[in-house]
Amino acid sequence: MAQYTPMIQQYLQVKAEAQDAFLFFRLGDFYEMFFDDAINAARELEITLTARNGGADDKIPMCGVPYHSAENYIQRLIEKGYKVAICEQMEDPTVTKGMVRREIVRVVTPGTVMEGKTLGDKSNNYMVCLTGNQNTLALAACDLSTGELYVTSVPYSKEWLKDEIGIYEPSELVGDASLLELVESESSPIGRPVVYTAWTKSKEDLVRQQFGESVWARLEPERQACVARLFSYLSETQKRSLGQLTQISTYEPDHYMILDPFTRRNLELVETVRERSKKGSLLWLLDRTQTSMGARMMRRWVDKPLLQKGKINERLEAVDTLYNQFILREDLRAELKDIYDLERLVGRIAFGNANGRDLNALRSSLDKIPTLRQHCANSSSSTLRHIAEMMDDCADLRDAIGQAIVDEPPVSVRDGGLIREGYHARLDELREASVNGKQWIAELEAREREATGIRSLKIGYNKVFGYYIEITKSNLASLPEGRYERKQTLANAERYITPELKEKETLILEAQDKMVDIEYSLFAALRDRLNEEIARLQKLAEQVAEIDVYQSFAVISAERNFVKPVLTDGYNLVVEQGRHPVVEAVMREGAFIANHTAMTEEEARILLITGPNMAGKSTYMRQVALISILAQVGCFVPAGQAEVPIMDRIFTRIGAADDLIGGQSTFMVEMADIQVMTEKATPRSLIIIDELGRGTSTSEGMAIAQSVIEYVHDVIGCKALVSTHFHELAHLEESLDKLANYSMAVQESGDKVNFLRKLIAGAASSSYGIYCARLAGLPDSIIERANGLLHGFEQAASQVAVGSEFMSESKPLTAQQYPTLDAEPSVSDDVKDQLIREQHVDRTAASVEA
Ligand code: ADP
Repeated sequence: MAQYTPMIQQYLQVKAEAQDAFLFFRLGDFYEMFFDDAINAARELEITLTARNGGADDKIPMCGVPYHSAENYIQRLIEKGYKVAICEQMEDPTVTKGMVRREIVRVVTPGTVMEGKTLGDKSNNYMVCLTGNQNTLALAACDLSTGELYVTSVPYSKEWLKDEIGIYEPSELVGDASLLELVESESSPIGRPVVYTAWTKSKEDLVRQQFGESVWARLEPERQACVARLFSYLSETQKRSLGQLTQISTYEPDHYMILDPFTRRNLELVETVRERSKKGSLLWLLDRTQTSMGARMMRRWVDKPLLQKGKINERLEAVDTLYNQFILREDLRAELKDIYDLERLVGRIAFGNANGRDLNALRSSLDKIPTLRQHCANSSSSTLRHIAEMMDDCADLRDAIGQAIVDEPPVSVRDGGLIREGYHARLDELREASVNGKQWIAELEAREREATGIRSLKIGYNKVFGYYIEITKSNLASLPEGRYERKQTLANAERYITPELKEKETLILEAQDKMVDIEYSLFAALRDRLNEEIARLQKLAEQVAEIDVYQSFAVISAERNFVKPVLTDGYNLVVEQGRHPVVEAVMREGAFIANHTAMTEEEARILLITGPNMAGKSTYMRQVALISILAQVGCFVPAGQAEVPIMDRIFTRIGAADDLIGGQSTFMVEMADIQVMTEKATPRSLIIIDELGRGTSTSEGMAIAQSVIEYVHDVIGCKALVSTHFHELAHLEESLDKLANYSMAVQESGDKVNFLRKLIAGAASSSYGIYCARLAGLPDSIIERANGLLHGFEQAASQVAVGSEFMSESKPLTAQQYPTLDAEPSVSDDVKDQLIREQHVDRTAASVEA
């Protein structure tokens, strides 16, 4: 240390506080980086690496960015998953002797950014804190930019943790190291870097102060600990008050439908599987919101479908009214369109970086509220009327801004020009003095021209000399000696002053300085006042968002002919003319074929669906899941009529071949998922399994498929949609009472295959694959041999059943269902089997598609 210059010593001291961040060290007009930070930043930001003497033998690597464009560089580092500590000069270098004091004023991290394009308008940016022990897990999720803070806890569950992290998709996690490691190793990549920081410090006092003792006391101890941990991290990085966090929203995970990350991905709820883009997802289809907070709320709703019928019906009631009333809908949309992102504006106010334009954006948004509220109050929807009743339009805040801030304020709040005339007497006086002074100077110019007869005489101003009288060299002869005091000589002019002029100058400049000071303090006072009312504004933002989501649901429901679902506490799911909302919406040619669904306690709980590739099986199964989700979110559904029971969980296992996590084989992943399913599914769940048992050999796959289906049927008793290539499984209809065979209809005409996309009762014809093989032009001998083999397999398959403990306990099997192993023909010849069964179907399907 000692060998370094004092400046580098200071740098190293500060850097010790920010080991895991790039330290932006303010030196005059630059932020400089040194040592490894400099080397790494030069690489990441593609800026020039230099070196300077720092007292030691070797030069010190260094690079820097100008302070006025630092924002952009900081953002780029944040996007790459780094943290940036900003160290400022805490004293004015012009009046300080020796080294100025420097301190870190804020550490910007991916989870705490407050501005810039890393914050998508329509998405939240969550920072999550995880704490717990072997018994309990607690989670606190916070979006500093919008002021949301959610807290929950559950009995220890790895699955739950994965599900929940999959929903928040945080950009940053802090908390217990072991939990962070678990999340890091288990979660699938989300397309951007995530920052993990093990954090053990805690700041209970801060939380108690911020939310009050009664709120604190109502939190369970494990939730208290989790929030306190989060606050410790936030306060150490942000180093300022977190006024935008005005409430702790606690929730119980079992109040929402559970959707694991795999299911969410597979159903393409918020992004597509392939491009990972919002476009093409359910959310993309549904989102007709007009405001950013509406868009974010819609995403939160889609993430967490409800379980309470009453709450769902409240939502549906509002959507229903707006669905039927085009004019009301349009009226609401017109008001909403001009409302800015209230949550983020409020976030900036709390953070202390809102400017005049932000306050005006807030004011003009508040201008829209009375009409918006009136429309809701006059509507026939009790849900909307209730919102209107609860709505505080914050007129006092709107007026306060309107009275203070000019219509078009500058970006900067420190250079004046933002406070209205008539707002503050002293400011008006100073303005007048300044205007008068300038007027006086203009008159002086006219007077002196007259007196001296020099028509080009002019009065100018610069920062160094202030006001001066300028006379060009050619006119100097006409200037009476001693009239003015000479101040400066230029190449072709002389500049003069008079005591009178300097006196006025002092008045004008003083007035200007004072004006800027007063304007700033008036602005700061207004911002502070608004800061006190943040909770009111946040509440309002939430109500606006809710109205926005309702109108958006209504617009899309009307546009796409959705119907209001009937939610029940019963078991049966009955959908008439159901459609897949997204596939239908993006279809370029032809009409989407609607299909019925009846999964009932009396008839069939499990539908076993057969049919070749491309027949429409997975579209159909997904559509059933999406209709349920839409209904529980409170939106209308794509159907002619729908009776939807409340479901606690939708579980999908859709055999996507590209699903390789951590090097595990598809089959292992599939089995692990099935294990979770057997453990978690209840009679109120919906299970969707596409191509069960595909990842292993045919006979094994078929055996596992059958035993899983039997378990779902006998032990779980929930609704299930199962598609399979194994036509042989169709015989299960005989042994399983509540299982029914269905297939996707296919029409074969001449040498063409026609997919009818119609779900029909009964299993698909199993000779279909061979039929396709023939169509594809395979030699007759192969076709004949295949037919022969198939015949043998089918006979055997109708006897294949796998004995398992639960089966033998729950239900005695007939001799027919328990074949002896040696009775099985050459099923082991998997290669041939696959060839016949799948490839030809695939190939034909592909050529049909082409
Ligand atoms: P499978 O799961 O049987 O292989 P998919 O469900 O993937 O078949 O459907 C294949 C394609 O058929 C889809 O991409 C879609 O374009 C079209 N399709 C599916 N169902 C329908 C339907 N009901 N109406 C119209 N087209 C459909």
